[in-house]
Amino acid sequence: MPSKKPSLRDRLIVKPGSKVDLGSRKPDETFGYRKEQAALKVAADVDRLAALQERLWAEHKRRVLIVLQAMDAGGKDGVVKHVMTGFHPLGCRVVGFGVPSEVELAHDYLWRVHQVVPGNGEIVVFNRSHYEDVLVVRVHDLVPKARWSKRYDQINAFEELLAAEGTTILKFMLHISADEQLERFRARYEDPTKRWKFKLGDLEERKRWDEYMAAYEEALERCSTDAAPWFVIPSDRKWFRDLAIADIVADTLADLDPQYPPMDDLPKNLVMS
Ligand code: AMP
Ligand code: MG
Repeated sequence: MPSKKPSLRDRLIVKPGSKVDLGSRKPDETFGYRKEQAALKVAADVDRLAALQERLWAEHKRRVLIVLQAMDAGGKDGVVKHVMTGFHPLGCRVVGFGVPSEVELAHDYLWRVHQVVPGNGEIVVFNRSHYEDVLVVRVHDLVPKARWSKRYDQINAFEELLAAEGTTILKFMLHISADEQLERFRARYEDPTKRWKFKLGDLEERKRWDEYMAAYEEALERCSTDAAPWFVIPSDRKWFRDLAIADIVADTLADLDPQYPPMDDLPKNLVMS
């Protein structure tokens, strides 16, 4: 009997409780997809996304949170640009998390996050997220281990709360190779229209690649849950990255099957004057 090709969602999810070895996951994997074919599939998925998002917004009951995490030049901005392009701006927000401000640092690390989670009908994309508080914070010892090591359970509890209250959560780690990152840094440096994206500090961070990978592995292992799964997206090929994320988000929204609100509260044959 011919078996159906597994969906990218099934292939790329980090199964809750499983070990994660990023070294054994190929950043240039494409699962047999080809670039030409991918462009058509992304376009079809973007159309699906647009229609589903409009229904989610009209329904105004449920919420969707998409978390993007990656090393520098991993492609987070590209995903926002290429995958979220079909969304109506009214029902969608992108929130970037940079170095915390003084006020943010004067609160617990989830304070700035909880304020900007999606409301009813909304899709919110986090460009970086509370996971920085177990990534950059851990790699640079910004708080003692005694504090950051408790955060995995706290994050799980926080995401569990959001999910129980009606938020669907998808978390994507854009997995690039160190070589690909260097190529992208070079391209940014050489192109005057891209140089603004490159900072000298990016080269410093790059020296800690292995420490970052270890921090990512622990976050993926401990915080991929049924309520809020992680996906590791092979991202050396931008077209495959866009395809995978568009497909996983579209499949997830299709499962939610948002509905236009019932019209029963309006009188039949209303005469307007
Ligand atoms: P970019 O995404 O290139 O605009 O850079 C944002 C920077 O903010 C990155 O270097 C992150 O590591 C940093 N960042 C984000 N969240 C935190 C955090 N909670 N603590 C410290 N640095 C952070
Ligand atoms: Mg940057």
